Amino acid sequence: MKRLRIIVEQARARYGRRPVLVAGVAGLVIGVIVGLGLSALLSPRHPAPTAFGPLCAVEPGVAVRPWTHLVLHHSAGDVGDAATFDRMHREERQWENGLGYDFVIGNGRGSGDGEIEVSTRWRRQMDGAHCKADGMNARAIGICFVGDFADGRTPTDAQIRAGLALVHHLAGTFDIPSTNVLGHGEVDGSSTQCPGRGFPIELMRVAADAARRR
Ligand SMILES: [Zn+2]
Repeated sequence: MKRLRIIVEQARARYGRRPVLVAGVAGLVIGVIVGLGLSALLSPRHPAPTAFGPLCAVEPGVAVRPWTHLVLHHSAGDVGDAATFDRMHREERQWENGLGYDFVIGNGRGSGDGEIEVSTRWRRQMDGAHCKADGMNARAIGICFVGDFADGRTPTDAQIRAGLALVHHLAGTFDIPSTNVLGHGEVDGSSTQCPGRGFPIELMRVAADAARRR
């Protein structure tokens, strides 16, 4: 105890009493706010959006473009994968470059549950065809989660884990702030409910923040 008192007194002598106290209280308040924010966002089944390794498999084979945004979508159907959406975009929408997204995250009903599929547009660093509003096709990376979350249903746990890892990786690589991680319907000028009210967009933003604090 005596030793502790000596250390405290030395600290007071060096830093003065108030700065130490103010710093301590400020640290505590910030800690509580961050803690409450995170625990409100994370239900127990969700992984911590900070613990990811690198995702080497998603590196494109050419020089990357300076992407500034991430735009997140749902497929608005229960089943599908990159190949089925590619066919749909070529045949029904007549897009010669096919699949409009950069990444598709499966739900186990088409591709694997939580499997990340990488599109040709991403590999070649081409414009997307997923969000015309606000010029996003030229500046945003488009990620589609297979499923329909309009009625409040959520992506699967594996999809959320994969999505957090991918957002974390891309936000870190391109230095994209969480304010630029948007659901399709949040983009200026868009008029869609995509990716639906069940989609955990706030969680994705936490993953982006975590990447940029490193
Ligand atoms: Zn969309």
